Amino acid sequence: MTTQRWTVGRCTITSILEEQIEHIPPEMFFPDTTAADVARHAWLVPDFADGEGRIALRVQALVIEIGGRTVLSDPCVGNGKRLAVAFWNEREWPFLERFADAGLAPDRIDTVVHTHLHADHVGWDTHLADGRWVPTFTRARHLYTARELAWCEAGGNPGVDHVHEQSIAPILAAGLADVVAEDADLGGGLRLEPTPGHTPGHVSLWIESDGETALVSGDFLHHPVQCAEPAWHEAGDEDRELARTTRRTMLGRAAASCALFIGTHFPSRPAGRIVADGAAWRFVPER
Ligand SMILES: [Zn+2]
Ligand SMILES: [Zn+2]
Repeated sequence: MTTQRWTVGRCTITSILEEQIEHIPPEMFFPDTTAADVARHAWLVPDFADGEGRIALRVQALVIEIGGRTVLSDPCVGNGKRLAVAFWNEREWPFLERFADAGLAPDRIDTVVHTHLHADHVGWDTHLADGRWVPTFTRARHLYTARELAWCEAGGNPGVDHVHEQSIAPILAAGLADVVAEDADLGGGLRLEPTPGHTPGHVSLWIESDGETALVSGDFLHHPVQCAEPAWHEAGDEDRELARTTRRTMLGRAAASCALFIGTHFPSRPAGRIVADGAAWRFVPER
């Protein structure tokens, strides 16, 4: 399944899959845990973990069609990027082909929203043409927060120092970039909310249409197991304590709002509801 689509009021949200990886030892992403810790949460099986407590994760972009606009959130790893993470390094995915299969075209995108500037959230903003990194979404305004731009330019991405040069500088040079506030109202039912901790200027995206609401998480949580275990930090969280506080605040808010919650790295069934479960929460995916 490479394309999934949900409706929120009169808005449609389409997931374009780059890759889903199954049977990952959870300690690769959650260093203080084991597969046995994950396996205690039986509701994760089979959509989010296997019976042995190994997790699945995906990289996907979301296309949000609302009020005549076509907005892209977090355009994945991209092709041909040299990256420290082995399973992202110099890959060739049929991502743009899947984009076309979903009835979309890069020049239909008018806005690109980045929850943050890790390498797996900016990749398709550029692609190689005649040996140069050039913009892919040539008619889109690409939105960045000032803190994320500064963090990325200073080499914030662990183990790789050319994310800014390859994936962001060409957008700035082409005049396609806008710096926006971390709580920016993007108009037409789209609004950013600061969700710091994973990275300094991390934001999440609220979507409202006809009285219905959705929340695109970004990386304030990575996997549904963190609904039950919000204290589990992810290996890439820069400020673990702040990330924990953000997770608890946002999980509470998502549950209270009954918003359609879309986990940016959630595998298999990434959209659903956050519901209270004792002192924590659980994720109930849309069927
Ligand atoms: Zn990240
Ligand atoms: Zn990520």
